[in-house]
Amino acid sequence: MLAKRLGTGIGFCVAAAFLSGGAWAAEGGHKAHVHGESKVKLAIEGNVVEIEFESPAHDIVGFESMPKTAEQRAAVESAVAALKKGEALFRLTPAAGCKLEEAEIETPLAEADHKDEHKRAEEEEHSEFHAHYRFRCAQPGRLKGMEVLLFDSFRTMREVEVGAILPGGQRAASLKPGANRFDF
Ligand SMILES: [Zn+2]
Repeated sequence: MLAKRLGTGIGFCVAAAFLSGGAWAAEGGHKAHVHGESKVKLAIEGNVVEIEFESPAHDIVGFESMPKTAEQRAAVESAVAALKKGEALFRLTPAAGCKLEEAEIETPLAEADHKDEHKRAEEEEHSEFHAHYRFRCAQPGRLKGMEVLLFDSFRTMREVEVGAILPGGQRAASLKPGANRFDF
């Protein structure tokens, strides 16, 4: 029960830090992002690793308006399916034995309610994909780092800003293709 509550708390803290981290413009509700740049927030608490991921839809599916064609809808569906495979995108130290326990993907492009589709498509300048992952590790003491494999799946992604709350303190790094390891 305590672990469960801690887990929720971590998720909230990560999300709160995420939201205040400059990814969102404070005024007017308009989201500011830079194409090619994604953000990852990671928190380790006990044997749980929480990861929040945010990326411009441009870098996930190549467009940011509501899907209009069958091809675009299929692209969104297949991106959501790819993003759900958190173990293939964020490779934690294998010796730590971390298993993906939860993966939630959110994007306005996948909203089932198409009533306002037209309006949304005209109004939205930018759209994002958000993902939340929870890993549980058998040997958390062996966690040494994370390899971010997003660049392999999403070719227009140029940079991933990582911010982490680790047992030893906070760390941040900017990862790029070919420099995709984040040490804890
Ligand atoms: Zn955009």
